[in-house]
Amino acid sequence: MIKRFLKAIINALFPSDVTCICCDNELRYEEERKHCVCVKCQQEINYIGDKPQIIENAALGFSEFFTVYDYEGKIKNIVVGFKDGKKAYLAEYIAKMLYDVYSQKEIKADCVAYTPCSPQKTRQRGFDPMKLVAEKFAELSSLKITHCLERSNKGLDQTESADRYKNIKGLFYAAKDKKDTDIKGKTIILIDDVITTGATASECCKVLKQCGAGKIILLTLAQAASFERYKTSFIPRNENKNMAVDN
Ligand SMILES: [Zn+2]
Repeated sequence: MIKRFLKAIINALFPSDVTCICCDNELRYEEERKHCVCVKCQQEINYIGDKPQIIENAALGFSEFFTVYDYEGKIKNIVVGFKDGKKAYLAEYIAKMLYDVYSQKEIKADCVAYTPCSPQKTRQRGFDPMKLVAEKFAELSSLKITHCLERSNKGLDQTESADRYKNIKGLFYAAKDKKDTDIKGKTIILIDDVITTGATASECCKVLKQCGAGKIILLTLAQAASFERYKTSFIPRNENKNMAVDN
């Protein structure tokens, strides 16, 4: 009787159907359940959310930058699984990871924007990944969400892999709906999954500024090692037209 009672309590506290978002193994500990990542996978993830990020490259368009993880190993699995593995449910966990840094760093913003994917890609995937994350993030942070950024269908095939290069100029534009672009003077927190060169973020910042945005803070789930050099220096002119797209 007592044994059955204890078992019921344990099951209620630790339902057995909760699994790691990286390896699908069952999660047993509270610490694992916080982000739905098992202890083993946590060891293979490099948390850099507590590191100060100094952006000296004004050309990027955002004045502050925060990120959560190094873009390698299991974090790649999460990002790729989420966007191209039809794992839309991961949006909730990604938003939670972003929100933890947002609250720990006491970031002050008025509303949330996101780097949208194109209508064609949205149809293929069945959802717009960062829009889903931004919606969850807005819920957690109680910030307003703005849908002022839109992405054209141009350059779709070239952005399939990070190795491909593509001119991203003009890929993003402001939404036609006036209520979506009502961000005059607002501090915007722009969220994205991975930053590699900063090209995508800086294009989005241009559009946000055209809509009248004040300060822009970038928050990404992960940072590729390649971004280190873009933090401090202006992007050389000859690279400018062939910049990698952070897809
Ligand atoms: Zn795992």
